[in-house]
Amino acid sequence: ISPVVRASQGPSERSYVMIKPDGVQRGLVGEIISRFEKKGFTLIGLKLYTCSSELAKEHYKDLSSKPFFPKLVEYITSGPVVCLALKGPGVVASARKLIGATNPLQAEPGTIRGDLGIETGRNVVHGSDSPENGEREIALWFKEDEVCEWEPSMMPWLRE
Ligand code: UDP
Ligand code: MG
Repeated sequence: ISPVVRASQGPSERSYVMIKPDGVQRGLVGEIISRFEKKGFTLIGLKLYTCSSELAKEHYKDLSSKPFFPKLVEYITSGPVVCLALKGPGVVASARKLIGATNPLQAEPGTIRGDLGIETGRNVVHGSDSPENGEREIALWFKEDEVCEWEPSMMPWLRE
């Protein structure tokens, strides 16, 4: 890829997206990953992982005072999740749009939760809510050498 094309891609951003245990158990992994791939974001981290309650609590620490927190931690640790790190301009907000509203009953059709989610406590997928949290969560869920920075060869066909 030419340096000119590389320079034109502008500032990039990273998001942590996670297919929650219900999404894995229901066989929705391929369907969900493909939505982010098709949208042109670069997959720079991917693994199946069963997390400790310590990690789940740290990930959701801002919600620790909420009444649903213990059940949320139980849910996230109840089976393997699929951890994704995604990169691209505007990926944080765009991934949240693709994911849809927290309550799947209110999520728009066409979004992952709108199409596949059942209820708030079984809403299939997580996405970082800010670029800062994207970085924080990628560092939390991935070891440094598990994140693979690469440049898709079709980038000139994705972005001008
Ligand atoms: N959650 C829940 N009950 C609630 C609100 C949230 O079980 O009343 C869970 C749900 O799995 C949600 C997660 O906690 O995805 C994090 O909540 P947040 O408000 O950050 O929603 P999100 O950013 O995932 O849309
Ligand atoms: Mg959130």
